Amino acid sequence: MREPLPGAQWTGIVSRLGQRLLESNQADAIITMAPDEEDSWRPSPVLITRAEDMALARGMRMGYAPLLALLDAVKDQGFKKIGVIGIPCQVYALRALQDELGLEKIWVIGTPCSDNTSTENFHEFLNLIDPNPEQITYLEFRADYHVELRFKNGDKKEIPFLMLPLSKLRPDFFPLTCKTCVDYTNSLADITVGYMGGTGEQWLLVRNQQGMALLDLLGDELISSAPENAGKRAGAVKGFLKNTELAAGGLPLRQMPNWLRPIVGWLIPRIGPRGLEFARARVEMKAIETVLHLRRSLPKKMKNMIPNHIWKLTAPYGLKPQEGEKDSV
Ligand SMILES: Cc1cc2nc3c(=O)[nH]c(=O)nc-3n(C[C@H](O)[C@H](O)[C@H](O)COP(=O)(O)OP(=O)(O)OC[C@H]3O[C@@H](n4cnc5c(N)ncnc54)[C@H](O)[C@@H]3O)c2cc1C
Repeated sequence: MREPLPGAQWTGIVSRLGQRLLESNQADAIITMAPDEEDSWRPSPVLITRAEDMALARGMRMGYAPLLALLDAVKDQGFKKIGVIGIPCQVYALRALQDELGLEKIWVIGTPCSDNTSTENFHEFLNLIDPNPEQITYLEFRADYHVELRFKNGDKKEIPFLMLPLSKLRPDFFPLTCKTCVDYTNSLADITVGYMGGTGEQWLLVRNQQGMALLDLLGDELISSAPENAGKRAGAVKGFLKNTELAAGGLPLRQMPNWLRPIVGWLIPRIGPRGLEFARARVEMKAIETVLHLRRSLPKKMKNMIPNHIWKLTAPYGLKPQEGEKDSV
């Protein structure tokens, strides 16, 4: 956004799209998440009908909440045109239900989602990364391999991914449903608004005419250009595969000595995959995770839970279906 919106996770493209739908009367209501009144990290589903109230939804919360339960409220209040903002698992369920809803129009604004966890687990993570976790107001896993933190007093902090205390997290910190998610990029949304294909900017995937119409609603409030593409992902993805194999098999990960971490943490953003290549790397890593974790935890479900596109993504890394893992039909 030319003028970033206060309180937004990045610059506020997502919440502004919802706002524009209401302002232009193309939606009667938007279903999205606002912060819980007692715990601002906890998502709380809301149905917003006044354009100015979309500001309440800005920012990212970690956790699960029943977004689509609000479809009952949509029905009760007789709304016919709605916008839904959601992560891939929510959008997937929405698409499965949409024909039964009797609505005239559904605008679907999606964000990518690599992993989610319970708000309780997320608080544990905050406790591990900072001595004053209650002061943290903002957190983002950025595409330059850093976590950005912002604090109530206006301070900012950046932590290289390699310096995160990930080995201290409980093994089920991310649930199996997230570890085996096959739709990182929210492919059923009309438009996906993320950051992982950007190099410090937001990243848009417009998937159909409706997504284009949404983008048009922003007019010249939005500045856009083609994404960058740099570095090579193969080495990073292979390393990830090796570590995930060890972790899924319950073995200790190949640990890097602590003294080396700041140096590698400095190098990776400069020589590692960037822009579109980073996005490709993350999509392939998620596909690898899906196969390895299901193979370990629920092998019998593999043929039902792994769509073809995942096998195509993992094949270049030698990860192919074994007997019984893929329906031959
Ligand atoms: C759990 C989670 C994981 C994510 N992982 C990635 C990732 O790996 N890569 C990537 O590129 N992008 C990821 N994103 C999306 C990234 O945060 C978006 O690019 C960003 O929110 C959009 O920025 P913005 O300034 O345009 O949004 P804003 O205008 O600030 O609006 C944010 C919107 O997200 C909604 N939201 C916040 N928390 C949740 C939640 N828990 N569940 C559902 N909706 C929520 C809000 O209600 C609001 O509508 C993730 C988002 C979430 C919620």
